[in-house]
Amino acid sequence: MRPRVIAGNWKMHHGPAATRRFFGEFSPRLSDPEATILIFPPAISLPAAAESRGGRPEVSLGIQNIHWEPKGAFTGEHSAAMALAAGARFALVGHSERRHVFGETDAQVERKVAAAIGEGLAPVVCVGETLDERREARVEEVIVRQLDAALLGVPENAKKSVLVAYEPVWAIGTGETATVDDVAEAHGILRRRLKEVRGDGFAQEVAILYGGSVNPENAADLLSVADVDGVLVGGASLDPESFARIAEAC
Ligand code: PEP
Repeated sequence: MRPRVIAGNWKMHHGPAATRRFFGEFSPRLSDPEATILIFPPAISLPAAAESRGGRPEVSLGIQNIHWEPKGAFTGEHSAAMALAAGARFALVGHSERRHVFGETDAQVERKVAAAIGEGLAPVVCVGETLDERREARVEEVIVRQLDAALLGVPENAKKSVLVAYEPVWAIGTGETATVDDVAEAHGILRRRLKEVRGDGFAQEVAILYGGSVNPENAADLLSVADVDGVLVGGASLDPESFARIAEAC
């Protein structure tokens, strides 16, 4: 049985004080979610999030990006071990903003996934096509390539700790949500590919999340799609009320 995961990616929003305010309002609104709730604050807000989420063991924390090296002269970067020490248990890897704004490559994604697993962080591997790639009917080619690259460094016994997020780039932060048919097709492709390259046992244990303009109104529909095990929410995760409503949608 795969876990249900409702994840929020705050991107570069909510410093430490805003993080404390968020949890002050969010925790009381959360009744008894069946899903794991996962929040990716900015790295600098991880300690504030770890302190202020108190009393909600179902809320886990993650880091939005890691470097693959354990330490060194990499100004501005954070290692997986540092993230773990600051309270993170998950790491986003290959988010589309990392790939398309910061030029992150498939090869770097592979190294980051291996570094996360090596330190005991569960990687949430993000894959997704751009609008041009969709128009050129290259969805399968792109997401399979990104998935394959990310999984190269994953040992068989780490299957339980790997999550995948299908996030079509054209749906992120745009208010455009993929249709349930688009989502079902992409998630089906990813599940089949996991099975082809890693076997059925591995494929059945990997949670695949959908991300791209998820909000309290569309969350339940998206969560009802076959092979959707959760959602990764950007903008709508910043507001405690809207994120709590999404958390209760499963
Ligand atoms: C994201 O940042 O991963 C995301 C899906 O953003 P939004 O929900 O704002 O589209």
